[in-house]
Amino acid sequence: MVELQALHVRGKRVLVRVDFNVPLENGEITDITRIRAALPTLKYLLQQGSKLVLVSHLGRPKSGFSPELSLEQLLPGIEKELECPLVFLGNVLDKAALTHWNALPMGSVALLENLRFHPEEEAGDVQFAQRLAEFADVYVNDAFGTAHRAHASTAVVAHFVPEKAPGFLMQKELDAVAQVLNQAQSPFTAVIGGAKISSKIGVLKNLIERADRFIIGGGMVYTFIKAQGGEIGLSLVEESMLETAKEFLHACSQKGVQVYLPEDSVCSTRFADDGAACVYPSHAIPASHMGLDAGPKARATIESWILDSKTILWNGPLGVFEIPVFAQGTLALGKAIAQATRHGAYSLVGGGDSVAAANALGISEQLSYVSTGGGALLESMEGKILPGHRALMDV
Ligand code: AMP
Repeated sequence: MVELQALHVRGKRVLVRVDFNVPLENGEITDITRIRAALPTLKYLLQQGSKLVLVSHLGRPKSGFSPELSLEQLLPGIEKELECPLVFLGNVLDKAALTHWNALPMGSVALLENLRFHPEEEAGDVQFAQRLAEFADVYVNDAFGTAHRAHASTAVVAHFVPEKAPGFLMQKELDAVAQVLNQAQSPFTAVIGGAKISSKIGVLKNLIERADRFIIGGGMVYTFIKAQGGEIGLSLVEESMLETAKEFLHACSQKGVQVYLPEDSVCSTRFADDGAACVYPSHAIPASHMGLDAGPKARATIESWILDSKTILWNGPLGVFEIPVFAQGTLALGKAIAQATRHGAYSLVGGGDSVAAANALGISEQLSYVSTGGGALLESMEGKILPGHRALMDV
């Protein structure tokens, strides 16, 4: 794969796939993070004397154009961040859009309309990708968040543009993944939380070969504990995953990989704050209760494991952190990871909930890398080469 800095982009038309899928309220951007994340790549390309056409999706349009998902709304926000005017080219299939684009001088920045207004984008349609390629001498993909999708703009277009490279954000994400998967210093602790084993089992299995130990958290804990014969009361359980859970624990013990399942849990009678949250051993939860967070003993053990780690991967909350009484485990974990990082550990945090928890704690800056990818990070951790990454490798 060619690095961005190795490409000669002066005087060229560069198509940049960005992830401008930002949250909006009444047409106003409520979180600018994704736009800011693309700035280093965009500013670099402009400094090099090229012109840029930005492409992205926004939301999940059902059938064609809808004004509330138009990228045109983002124009003022992007202009402010990039500190330069933008030209809105409209619909990619419109002949006038290409004519307009080709007539713009070097140094211009243009934006095409939401690509998902066309079903061909998500279908990875070849003709649609060829149409996009007509806008480009160089293709740069800086949208790690959608790199696990083989869509027209995230992967297929790369086959039709002579020169291509990852943007700086994409490169940082790929480097962070490689750091954890291929260059992890021991002890490497993988903290995998969240609701279900089924969505994380691919990651768990791939990491058996790489991690020294797992900390399991969140709802999936109780499927593991039930698989070991524990009493989990009303806790979340995936009956269909009991066998898989047993196999995973067995595989870990065969390989000498330690697995920590929180020894105690903060419990409630319902999936809400019932005003009487109490702590039970995770393997002896009464029939009337469900486990919703790591308990105090578990929090102390998790903290000591984290502080003793040199590499930490964190994906998924340790409890129902959206409800404050059940957020203690996740918050204690985040603080411990920040502390370990200050003491020299490498930490990679990803997934919407973990990133939200890190932001809420104000510790994001103290972590080695906070990924912008949810699904993309998980699939990378499963050991897959993402379609958006692979497409940049083809010559
Ligand atoms: P995931 O999307 O799989 O990473 O799961 C995140 C969700 O898991 C969050 O919305 C949490 O509220 C939820 N969660 C965490 N712990 C539990 C638990 N003990 N029981 C049920 N849901 C949980």
